[in-house]
Amino acid sequence: MTEVLHCIGCGAKIQSEDPKEVGYTPASSLEKETIICQRCFRLKNYNEIQPVSLTDDDFLRILNGLGEQKGLIVKIVDIFDFNGSWLPGLHRFVGNNPVLLVANKADLLPKSVKPKKVINWLKKEAKVLGLQPIDVLLVSAHKGQGMEEVVEAIENYREGQNVFVVGCTNVGKSTFINRIIKHATGEGNIITTSYFPGTTLDMIEIPLDDGSALFDTPGIINHHQMAHHIDASELKYITPKKEIKPKVYQQNEGQSLFIGALARFDFIKGERSAFTIYAANDLPIHRTKLEKADTIYEEHKGELLSPPSQKFIDQLPELVRHEFSIKDGKTDVVISGLGWITVQHPNVVVAAYAPRGVEVFIRPSLI
Ligand code: GDP
Repeated sequence: MTEVLHCIGCGAKIQSEDPKEVGYTPASSLEKETIICQRCFRLKNYNEIQPVSLTDDDFLRILNGLGEQKGLIVKIVDIFDFNGSWLPGLHRFVGNNPVLLVANKADLLPKSVKPKKVINWLKKEAKVLGLQPIDVLLVSAHKGQGMEEVVEAIENYREGQNVFVVGCTNVGKSTFINRIIKHATGEGNIITTSYFPGTTLDMIEIPLDDGSALFDTPGIINHHQMAHHIDASELKYITPKKEIKPKVYQQNEGQSLFIGALARFDFIKGERSAFTIYAANDLPIHRTKLEKADTIYEEHKGELLSPPSQKFIDQLPELVRHEFSIKDGKTDVVISGLGWITVQHPNVVVAAYAPRGVEVFIRPSLI
C-alpha cells in the first residue's frame, strides 16, 4: 500500500498529478524527509499566493464556516465572466456578514465602457441574484487599477474585524491577494496558514495592523465557467489579455457569425443591422449564411472553426440555442466567459449558441 503523505504547511494530502489541485508537489520533491506542497513552498519563500481549487463539498464546508465567523466578506468576480464566476447561494451562507463585491479585470473593458454603468449593472444583477453588497468596486488586480480604493474600502467596512476573500478559480483572486500582500505587509512580516474549522484546507492568513487578519479561501470551481470546457493550453485564446477591440459586422437577416467553434450568433429577422462583437482579440470570427451554418459547423469545427482545435473539440459540450426577440436598440447578448455581442438596432430576432451549461442572457448595452 502506498503511504498517504500530508503537507507540513497546510495539511493537505500530497499529490503529483494536478498542479492546480490542492496538495500538488512535483514528483521530484517526494523523496524529501519533510514534504511541503508547492503552494505553501511559494508562500513561505516568496510570500506569494498560488491558486488552488476545491471540490464542491469542500466549498460548502468553507461557506458554512464563513457564516460562523464574524467579519467582512470580499467576493471577487470576473467582470468578463460575471455569471460564470458568481458563487450561487453565497448570501445564504454568510449570515449577517457584510459583502464587498469586487469586479476584477476592468482593464479588459474597452475605454468606451463607462465604469458607472458597469457598477450600476453589477448592483442590479447582484440584487437579482439575492445579494445586497455593502459596496461594489471595479478593479484590475493585474494592472493595480483601483487597488488603493479597495484597500481603503476594506479598512472602512471591516470595522476592526477579520476579512475573508472568496471567489471562483480564474477570477484573479491570487493576483488580487498578491497585490494586497504587497500593500499590507512590510518587510519581514510573516504570512501564515491557519486552521479553519471544518475545512480540509487551511486558509492563508495575512496579518492586518490591529491583530485581525485577511484570509484567502481556496478558489472554487464553478462548472458553468466556459474556462472549464477548454483545455488549459487553449485557454489563452478565449481569455482576453488586453483591452478588447470591438469588431463591427453589418449583417442582413439570414446571416450567421461563428466565434471559433465556441459560439454562434444568428441574425434571424430584422432590417440590415450592425452587430458589435466584444471578445478576446485573437478569436477568429467567421461569417456564413444561416441556412448553411449547421453543416459548416459539423464539417469544420476544430479546423476552420477553432478553438477548440481538433484535439480537444470532443471535450466541448454541444452548442445550445438561445433565441431573443429584441425590442430596444443597444442591447448586449452576453455569452458568459466569452464576451458579448451588442445589437445596435431595435426590433430584431437573434439566436446565440453556446456550450451547454454556459449562461447566455441579454442586458441593456454597457456602452
Ligand atoms: P485565481 O484562479 O482566481 O487565483 O486567478 P489568478 O490570479 O491565477 O488569475 C487567473 C488569470 O486571470 C490569469 O491568467 C491572470 O493573469 C488573469 N488576471 C488576473 N487578474 C487580472 C486582471 O486584473 N486583468 C486581466 N486582464 N487579467 C487578470
